[in-house]
Amino acid sequence: MQDPDILLTERLRERGLRVTPQRLIAYRVLRRLNRHVTAEELLTAMAERIPNVALPTVYATLDLLEELHLVRRIATVGGTAVYDPMKEPHQHMLCTRCGAIDDLAVNVDLSTVQAAATATGFQPAGLEVVVRGICQTCGRRSAS
Ligand SMILES: [Zn+2]
Ligand SMILES: [Zn+2]
Repeated sequence: MQDPDILLTERLRERGLRVTPQRLIAYRVLRRLNRHVTAEELLTAMAERIPNVALPTVYATLDLLEELHLVRRIATVGGTAVYDPMKEPHQHMLCTRCGAIDDLAVNVDLSTVQAAATATGFQPAGLEVVVRGICQTCGRRSAS
């Protein structure tokens, strides 16, 4: 796996953007957590390394990382965004009862969707499949 610092530095420089300690730490922490996190969770984890980081800064950094295709923003039930450090391509299952988001390891070819969107003049930045429903834990709870 490529060093997160080097990867982020390269991506920022390609765009002529500044490499700041905050950006490096945000991405490093995300990669270390290696799971879906909210901006608040990332802020808490970052606070151990770098004091006085404000939540709007964390959101701005996450937006930037998404633009650089280093994290993926996942739509959730309540509207709280969850961020996913890019791993192997995967999709998500979303529980509409408890809000849990699980990875779904599956290979889907979304190129026809992308092509159709492009044909309308739209510029797709990302495609995802979200399976909505009831997770196993909630399913068991309602069964008992
Ligand atoms: Zn659930
Ligand atoms: Zn995921």
